Amino acid sequence: MKKYFIAIGSNWPNLTQNSESILNQVVQRFENRFPLDFISSEILKSAPLGPQNQPWFFNMVVSFQSSWPAMEMLAYIKGLETIFGRQLRRRWGERELDLDIVAISDEIHQLGRLKIPHPQMNFRSFVLNPLRECDPNWTHPLSDKSIHQLILELGENEAS
Ligand code: ADP
Ligand code: MG
Repeated sequence: MKKYFIAIGSNWPNLTQNSESILNQVVQRFENRFPLDFISSEILKSAPLGPQNQPWFFNMVVSFQSSWPAMEMLAYIKGLETIFGRQLRRRWGERELDLDIVAISDEIHQLGRLKIPHPQMNFRSFVLNPLRECDPNWTHPLSDKSIHQLILELGENEAS
C-alpha cells in the first residue's frame, strides 16, 4: 500500500455545476473508490496564478491508501477531468477541474511524463497547506524537508 496525495482545483463552472460543487463531487468519487484512510482537507480559495482576468481558484488535497501504480492513477485522474468537462484552453488559464498527483508516500518519479513529487508543489501554498492538513508528518523525499519547513520557506520567499 502507498499513500497518495491528490490536489484538486477548479476555477470555472462546467455546464451544470460551480467550482465548489465540482470539488465536492470529485471528493465523493475518490472516497468511494479509495476508502482506505481517506482524508480530505478544507477547501481553500485563492487568487489565480498567471492570467488575472479569470475567477478565483478553489483548491484542496485528498489523501488515501492505494496499491495502484502511479501511471494507472494518472489515467484515472485524467478520466475524471474529462468527465467533469475540462476543455483545453490557454496555459495556466481557467479550468473546470485540475487533478494533480502531488506525492505518493516517499516515491520519486522523474523520468518520462509523470513527475512525483509534483515539481511545482513547493511553490504553492494552496497545495502545501491542505497537504499538511492531511498529513502533518509528511516529508519531501527529494529535499528531506518536513511539510512544516516547506510552508515556512514559502512564507519567507513570498516576503522577500
Ligand atoms: P497543469 O496541471 O500543469 O496545469 P495539466 O493538468 O494539463 O497541467 O497536466 C499536464 C500533464 O502533466 C499531464 O497530462 C501529465 O502527463 C503531466 N504530469 C506530470 N507530472 C504530473 C503529476 N504529478 N500529476 C499530474 N500530472 C502530471
Ligand atoms: Mg494538472
